[in-house]
Amino acid sequence: MSALCTDPFGLGSPAGVVPDAVQLTGDLGEGPLRVVLLGTAAGPYPAPGRQGAATAVVVGDRTYLVDAGYGALRKYAQAGLALRDLGGVFVTHLHSDHVADLLTLFLLGWGPANRGVDHQVRVVGPGPDPRDASAGTAGLVEHGLRAFGQDIGVRTRTSPRTHLAELVRAEDVSVDPVPTPVFEDDRIRVLAAAVPHPPLHLALGLRIETEHGVVAFSGDTARSRVVAELAAGADVLVHEVMDPAYYRGLGYSPELLDFLAASHTSPQEVGEVAAEAEVGCVALSHIGPPDPRAVTDDEWERPVRAGFRGRIVVGHDLTQVLPSRS
Ligand SMILES: [Zn+2]
Repeated sequence: MSALCTDPFGLGSPAGVVPDAVQLTGDLGEGPLRVVLLGTAAGPYPAPGRQGAATAVVVGDRTYLVDAGYGALRKYAQAGLALRDLGGVFVTHLHSDHVADLLTLFLLGWGPANRGVDHQVRVVGPGPDPRDASAGTAGLVEHGLRAFGQDIGVRTRTSPRTHLAELVRAEDVSVDPVPTPVFEDDRIRVLAAAVPHPPLHLALGLRIETEHGVVAFSGDTARSRVVAELAAGADVLVHEVMDPAYYRGLGYSPELLDFLAASHTSPQEVGEVAAEAEVGCVALSHIGPPDPRAVTDDEWERPVRAGFRGRIVVGHDLTQVLPSRS
């Protein structure tokens, strides 16, 4: 394959072919609480080997999704998960690399056939930006469903199914840096808090509590004490990571490097946050650069290990993490 195909945006990826993951890896097997890293790439640009940000938290026969970046639906299916078991979707923020597949999930995974969505699903995420009144999570879903009105109308008329507007219940939340409950059902309780991901007005970190353990998510964030608070004592912390040295090597301007540092977390900082929170395991996801040839797993793990003695998982698409494994 030519370099043009493997590096379509000219970001300097090494030559060669990186196949996408198609089946589960990591902690194989069953468990009452499973974390499946569906997509582990940072940033909106399509990258070889990793898809956009999305993680499944599987509690028994119920699946919850945190973010739905590009490729989320396909990875969800490849993980062996069914949309009919979807218990809720939590959107950390409204950058496209976290929501590109949000509508796809419901448009393509809808209806009782093929184990699709046939029940109400709550989608919880940040509300509108008060600075320019741009849409929040509810607006994104509402406008998106309207944009696909012809398709939804035809399918509703030609096969028995409930209209998507009645099934997808999108809710805006507005929280400050103090962890606040935003969702609860018979399996999980979710707390959210604002984390620093400028210039977005609101990006969420999450804590998902279950009777089988706790899974926390940094979302996209600069190093933050809020994440450590959300993740306190968690079994698994899924943390974003960005390697500043890689982007410095690409010749990014000092201003751009400062911007990245103000909105993302270096591997050293991830280790420090994981240690501060005393989590059992930190799983790196939303990895920048996403191309697995640019930074090896060892190179990701080493700086995290400098500050953290617990388990470290360098995430790849379809990596499963069982909280009980050490
Ligand atoms: Zn992102």
